[in-house]
Order: sequence, then C-alpha cells, then structure tokens
Amino acid sequence: MNKTDVVERIQKLREKLEHHNYRYYVLDDPEISDKEYDSLMNELIQLEESNPEMKSSDSPTQRVGGEPVDKFSRVPHEIPMLSLDNAESQKELLEFHNRITKNIPVNDIAYVAELKIDGLALSLKYESGKLVQGATRGDGSVGEDITPNVKTVGSIPLKLSKNVNLEVRGEAFMPKKSFSRLNKEKEKQEERLFANPRNAAAGSLRQLNPKVAAKRDLDFFAYSVANIEGEEIDSHFDSLQLLKQLGFKLNPYITSCKSIEEVITYCEKWQEKREELPYEIDGVVIKLDSFSQQEMLGATSKSPRWAIAYKFPAEQAVSKIKNIFINV
Ligand code: NAD
Repeated sequence: MNKTDVVERIQKLREKLEHHNYRYYVLDDPEISDKEYDSLMNELIQLEESNPEMKSSDSPTQRVGGEPVDKFSRVPHEIPMLSLDNAESQKELLEFHNRITKNIPVNDIAYVAELKIDGLALSLKYESGKLVQGATRGDGSVGEDITPNVKTVGSIPLKLSKNVNLEVRGEAFMPKKSFSRLNKEKEKQEERLFANPRNAAAGSLRQLNPKVAAKRDLDFFAYSVANIEGEEIDSHFDSLQLLKQLGFKLNPYITSCKSIEEVITYCEKWQEKREELPYEIDGVVIKLDSFSQQEMLGATSKSPRWAIAYKFPAEQAVSKIKNIFINV
C-alpha cells in the first residue's frame, strides 16, 4: 500500500468502526459480529502502529465504548471505566505475562482468572450500605444514570450487610434461556429480535421505562471494587471475598492462579466448557492480583496494563454468531 492508500484505509476503517460503535453501544443493535468488528479494529491498530504519524487521540483505537445518550442523566466516573486489551492466542497471553515480568519478579506474581461474561459493565454506588446509583460505562469517563432499571435486577442488592460507602463494578447479563424466551415472544409479536444476549441485556437496561427491565429476567455478577471507604484490602482476590460478604453475587468459577501456565489451563478448560454454562462468555479475564502491583503498572487511556481479556478463537464463536444473525 502506498501512503495515500494507507491514509484512505485508515480513514475508512475509522468511519466504519465509529458507525459500528454507534450501532452497538448507543442503539444496542449491531450489524456485524464481534469477530468481524475485532478484525477491523485489529487492522486499524496495525496500520496505526506502522504509521505512528497517523495516530490520533480520537481514533476508535484510543477510545472506550460509545457516547452516553441524552435521554439519561450523565454520571461522571471518578475512576474511569476502561476497556481491556485482548489476547487471541496462548502466544499473546505469554507476551502479556512477559511484559509484566519486566517490572515484577516472576515469583511475586499471582493472577486472578475470571470468566468474561458477555453482558454490559455497570457501576453501582452505595452510601451507608444503600444502593444510590447505577450507571453504564458510556465512554469510560461519563456513563448513563440507569438507577431505576438497575434496581429491578434481583441479584443486585439494594442494601448491603454493612453500612459502607462503596463503588462496585460488574457485569449485567441475560441468561441464555431468558434470551431465547424473549426472542420467541418478540417473534410472536412480529417485533425486531435482539442479535444476542449481550444486546438484549443492554437494550433492556437502557430503557426509560423500568417496567421493561423488570420483565427481562436479568442477572448480575460483581467483579471489582472501584472504591471503598474504611476497609484495608491489598488484593483483587480479597476484595472479591469482601464483596461476597457484603451480599453481592460473584461468578463461582473465579480462581486464583500462581503461574501463567495455570492461567492457560483455565482458559483451555473454559474454551471447551463454555457451552455448558447457562449464560454466554466470550473469553477469560486475567488480572494481576496485588493492588500495589496494579498501581505500579497503571493504565493507558483505554485499558489497564495489569489485565487482559483472552478471547476465545473465532471458529466456535463465528459459527454461533452467524446462526444468531441468520435468525434475525
Ligand atoms: P471488551 O468487551 O473486550 O472487554 C471489557 C469489558 O469486559 C468490560 O467493560 C466488562 O463489561 C467486560 N467483562 C466481563 N467480565 C468481566 C470480568 N470478569 N472482569 C472485568 N471485565 C469483564 O471490551 P469493550 O471495550 O467492552 O468492547 C469491545 C468489544 O465489544 C469488541 O472487541 C467487540 O467484540 C465488541 N463490539 C462489537 C461491535 C459490533 O458491531 N459487533 C461494536 C463494538 C464493540
């Protein structure tokens, strides 16, 4: 490709990705599969890497999610809600581990491996143990206030077991059974179907009328503490135990791993077993356990350097997603 072709291709990819971000994050109605989206994004990342003068802070490669929509009040996130870097192979997982070992001795490293639930991220704020706000991630800095909808999700506690001030983050999702039931009903009513459970969950929670969300049988797993007052915690794993004690529902398969080999075994196991789960997962999230190590590594504008999402390979996912898209 000559320079003009590169400039044109970068421009084209940015426009396409902006368009698909809007369909996915704002309308909850994607036109292409996640794997197709990821391959456009990877092409843009590579073109920007090999042509650094073309990098730009408003490129989709540098930005999280989509703009919050005006129908909801805006919620600024004091601690940004970031995206995650992806690893698509064992080799890329090992590269992630090698980057970490440049700063931290290998014997001091412990990871937490978690299923990557395919839903939408929520921030929940509690004051004196009471739920006061539920918000979407939005563009990472500003989310949408969807508190009345969040309160309809049965597994989100309205009151905690302790009167703490806390901001917790986690994934709201629609179980597979509820998703197929919902689409069957929509089919009967001759309404447009949801492309997948992720979009059904997001579409249900981003409604103005909380009665809609209340009917949708949504679920929630907490996966991190963004902020807590009056508790001393040193590690991600310990913070999850505290969340459990406070009354949150946690995914039962979260595990602590002492080595990257244990992480790889966990990823392989869940790649095999993902179909057995009653909800969709699109990978595994791997997080460095120690908070001081996380702080030392920090984050880019888009994602933390101490975590990575291992995304399951295309084959299984594409055939499945294609089926869903054909049905729509
Ligand atoms: P991501 O989905 O790759 O990873 C970040 C998200 O993972 C978090 O925000 C959180 O919601 C979720 N998550 C689930 N379980 C988690 C756990 N245990 N711990 C931490 N986080 C957990 O990144 P993203 O920025 O949310 O979305 C980008 C992806 O969305 C793309 O790679 C693509 O697959 C999809 N997308 C698709 C389209 C489309 O048109 N099909 C458009 C835009 C984005």
